[in-house]
Amino acid sequence: MNDFMYHNPDKVYFGKAQIQHLPAELRQFGKNVLLVYGGGSIKKNGIYDTVLSCLVKEGFILTELSGVEPNPRHTTVNRGAAICKQADIDVVLAVGGGSTIDCAKGIAAAAETADGNVWPLVEQKIWITKALPVVAVLTNAATGSEMDAWAVISNMDTNEKIGLGGSALIPRAAFENPEYSYSLPIYQTACGSFDIFNHVLDNYYFSQDAAFDMILEFQEAVMRAVVKWAPIAMKEPQNYEARANLMWASSLALNGILDAGMMHDCACHAMEHELSAYYDITHGHGLAILTPRWLTYLLDEETAPAIHRLGTAVFGIEKAIRPMIGAKQTIEAVSDFCFQTLGLTATLSELGITDEHFAEMAKHACGGRSLSGIKTLSSADIEKIYRMCL
Ligand code: NAP
Ligand code: FE
Repeated sequence: MNDFMYHNPDKVYFGKAQIQHLPAELRQFGKNVLLVYGGGSIKKNGIYDTVLSCLVKEGFILTELSGVEPNPRHTTVNRGAAICKQADIDVVLAVGGGSTIDCAKGIAAAAETADGNVWPLVEQKIWITKALPVVAVLTNAATGSEMDAWAVISNMDTNEKIGLGGSALIPRAAFENPEYSYSLPIYQTACGSFDIFNHVLDNYYFSQDAAFDMILEFQEAVMRAVVKWAPIAMKEPQNYEARANLMWASSLALNGILDAGMMHDCACHAMEHELSAYYDITHGHGLAILTPRWLTYLLDEETAPAIHRLGTAVFGIEKAIRPMIGAKQTIEAVSDFCFQTLGLTATLSELGITDEHFAEMAKHACGGRSLSGIKTLSSADIEKIYRMCL
């Protein structure tokens, strides 16, 4: 385990009646609030009214930025930053899923720059230590953005989708009411659930070293929870326990606890960001198509025991079998989870994706070097994995 510093200042209000604390959390930053949201789901399900009714009577001055796209664009972020400067905004309030929260984080960072342009920060991978405060009201269990230091911003002019990171991007408070996710479409529930699963798997320390058992078991418990509760949430959208388990799993997966001291690249995420950048697909769906192929590509005598361990701990694969057989059964179980249980289509071709851009996507995915992990992946390896997904 590497040395690490752990500090997550996010204050999480979890449960049904916690939104009452929103005014007090915002008030410490000021009265001028930029309310950021997406394409209107919060108006249909009543969350917009709930938030407004609790803020307007408290004297907050609200300015709105609506229409944040899934895979939020840098142009929308820049619009938000311009509003912050004009309206002297004190705090950015995101109400929505990962796209909305990421957009709010980009706005908060760009608003503190002279020209209000987020893209140079993203492109130059500047670690953000100065930003307006962000508060999140979460409506989708998926990205972990409600508790992490990251935002993923897309530039559709250049086909780039890149993470912006920084300690100042961690929300100051997150409101997680599982009921707010009742209205999610089944497809989004499936995609969000697989995003959670893959956040853990991408950071899973594929090691048999007993010294790491505590972390491995913690990671396995979160993945097991997703495998257990996602199908229940899909069948019974208003099952509180299912929504609550998924929502807290979303936050735990990326709040730094599960990967402290174990840094390597998140291979599936790096590969998926290219798919979204070129084809604007749903993030969790891209991850589901990639993950079983990535595991298949990694599988050899050396990696088999670790992949087998994942299967025994998360999918109930038998322990007392040869690791290579166990690993193959694990990959089949991951595949079944993605394409049977979650009902996601299994190939890139079904999403209209061809091999046209694979070579350049593979180069971007590893940033011109390679991706670290259980096995180091070069751009040639990544291109082969993309082809396995067709
Ligand atoms: P999302 O893009 O925020 O939302 C997907 C869709 O679900 C939108 O149409 C949204 O509608 C709708 N929706 C959200 N909550 C809903 C609800 N309660 N009821 C009905 N519809 C609802 O999805 P996401 O998976 O949470 O975020 C994906 C983005 O986050 C991607 O860009 C991905 O790359 C990024 N990401 C970020 C991190 C991170 O660490 N920051 C990690 C992984 C992924 P509205 O438009 O109306 O909101
Ligand atoms: Fe993700």
